Amino acid sequence: MIEPERPLLPPEPPLRGRCAWCGGELYAGNGALLHDGAALHPECALPYLCDRLGAGEIARCCGCRRIVL
Ligand SMILES: [Zn+2]
Repeated sequence: MIEPERPLLPPEPPLRGRCAWCGGELYAGNGALLHDGAALHPECALPYLCDRLGAGEIARCCGCRRIVL
């Protein structure tokens, strides 16, 4: 009896969507972030949020405060 050929690589997990910043694929079982209904790769969150909120708002959220020098 001849056995069926096995694929060389394991099957990819199911595609769950696209990253709102880079457009890359988001797969089931991988970590992602959600902001206002937009799913993101974790590494895409900073440029996405800077674009959406502005660097000043990001800095404020991180504890920065505005000063006059
Ligand atoms: Zn991305």
